[in-house]
Amino acid sequence: MQKGSILLKQKCANQIACKLRTLHELSGLYIHIPFCKSACTYCNFHFTTGSRYRDSFIQHIIREYELQSHAWQEPWDTVYLGGGTPSILPESQIELLFRHIAQKNGLVPGAEVTIEANPEDIQPQKIQAWLAMGINRVSLGVQSLSDTELTAMNRVHRAEDSLKSLALLNATGFPSVNIDLIYGSQWLSDTDWEHTLKWAFDSGADHISAYALTAETNTKLFKDISKGTLPPISEEKQAKHFEMLHEMAAKSQWDFYEISNLSKPGYRAKHNSNYWKNKPYLGLGPSAHSYDGQFTRRWNIADNKQYVESIEQGLLNFEEEILNESQLFNEFLLTNLRTVEGVSLSLAAKLQPNWLDKSQHTIAELSNKHFLLQEEGFIKLTMQGKLLSDYVTRELML
Ligand code: SF4
Repeated sequence: MQKGSILLKQKCANQIACKLRTLHELSGLYIHIPFCKSACTYCNFHFTTGSRYRDSFIQHIIREYELQSHAWQEPWDTVYLGGGTPSILPESQIELLFRHIAQKNGLVPGAEVTIEANPEDIQPQKIQAWLAMGINRVSLGVQSLSDTELTAMNRVHRAEDSLKSLALLNATGFPSVNIDLIYGSQWLSDTDWEHTLKWAFDSGADHISAYALTAETNTKLFKDISKGTLPPISEEKQAKHFEMLHEMAAKSQWDFYEISNLSKPGYRAKHNSNYWKNKPYLGLGPSAHSYDGQFTRRWNIADNKQYVESIEQGLLNFEEEILNESQLFNEFLLTNLRTVEGVSLSLAAKLQPNWLDKSQHTIAELSNKHFLLQEEGFIKLTMQGKLLSDYVTRELML
């Protein structure tokens, strides 16, 4: 851990990052709000259900912003309030934060400004306040329309709350809405999933992020499966639900632009896409990650008490890693393979001149197994390849 050291933006000093960054100059801001009303059984994000530090939390974020701001001078292209549950905070606190952002960096015209929200928090006055602050995108944690599943996952809200919150967001004409969904769980039948998908595509939302349920270590879900009180997650069911999602996206003519993300045409999410495009971003708050767009990645301490105490002493409390050229290239492969466009072979050859020669045989093998498709100078995952994307990516990495 390094305390108090300062990240300085340098001229492009890393070959791969320079080549990747020629088109990408704007930066994103991520703010982590680590408070939740209850602990979802599958969650391995940094959060607490306690309220200690909650009332003064934005003051600490602003103080951290001050400590970091000399290295981040340009207006933000995207701002993303994630967590945790940012919608748990009163409007007055979020307004304080946005006033500070406006005074310091400001936003580029057309910036995407997202807040993650849980359905039970959506109220008319909140929506109006968020709009007035310049928030133009809500990412709603619907997860499921099955109350049995929501209860089993220890979510606070019920399906009815999701329906009502979407109706409210639609009625106020909120510019952009994402729906988060989880598929393939022990509790979700194929019929439930079909019902959820039909609703989601017709709900008025312009974006869906859909994730296969995973049992991360240290979660209640993992422990219950390990103890045998819950059956393991079925890979066959997950594959089936993923295929159903694909079919529905194709039927509705949505843009399935990344393995877990799909949108109406023209509504791709900018903030997450920028992570995949190697753009720099600053992360504020406990556990938040930052990347300088070249080779330095750092992550804040994932502990609210230590975070707050460090900030009160005027210190940044983080760990840092310097990425080498192989790591950067592997990340380029990983992120680009997840996209509908795939990996540009000419760009890959420019970044790592020997990679293509060495990988020709592997690419041919993966194509013969119908995991990869070669099209107009790009390699892309097929449907089967998407289901085994970790394996395919590992095979191609340096
Ligand atoms: S609301 Fe989100 S961040 Fe909080 S515990 Fe549930 S999944 Fe995790």
